[in-house]
Amino acid sequence: MLIAVSKTKSVSEIIEAYNAGQKYFGENRVQELLDKKDHVPADAEWHLIGHLQTNKVKYVVPFISMIQSVDSLKLLNAINNEASKVNKVVNCLLQIYIAEEETKYGFSMSEIESIINLKGLDGLKYVRICGVMGMATFTEDFSQVRKEFSCLREYFKILKAGYFNSETHFREISMGMSGDYKIAVEEGSTMVRIGSLLFGERNKNKPV
Ligand SMILES: *Cc1c(COP(=O)(O)O)cnc(C)c1O
Repeated sequence: MLIAVSKTKSVSEIIEAYNAGQKYFGENRVQELLDKKDHVPADAEWHLIGHLQTNKVKYVVPFISMIQSVDSLKLLNAINNEASKVNKVVNCLLQIYIAEEETKYGFSMSEIESIINLKGLDGLKYVRICGVMGMATFTEDFSQVRKEFSCLREYFKILKAGYFNSETHFREISMGMSGDYKIAVEEGSTMVRIGSLLFGERNKNKPV
């Protein structure tokens, strides 16, 4: 499945992609997403792919198709709470840290396992965990990138076998961007998030 990452791109560029048949769009900032979504046909589906602050959860929960960037138990609880208010089950991916470089966001595998073992996910009735998401190191070293994607696939398998075996919706591995999607697909990606390759380079002056 292809997620067209439309951050920094205009509504008209998004509609052009929509008219060409693209239905799934990814944005990483809540405000930008809110500004755009009502100008795009309502059957387009939105995936949040950037860090989500708990105080902004309420703005996205009512319409979001998937929150791919779930990176804390606190956020899961906030999503569950807001989702319960609108009686909606929200599709989520657990963002797992696989890159070598320092990043601020994402679970480690051991964090996820301890949360599950401590029953931290029990009772989250309005959250549907559909799989995992990760980003590889930004490097020209493709063997490194391959190693990291392969690692994410292994994490997915461990979680599936150990904790989500009976849950058919736990099936997504979101990995691969413009520069590394081919490797990601070879390593088992089920969702690629492609921005610049579809829409052209982003304006570097704009925040991303
Ligand atoms: C921007 C972004 C992408 C897409 O990046 P491209 O290199 O333009 O394809 C994918 N995933 C996340 C989380 C992003 O922030």
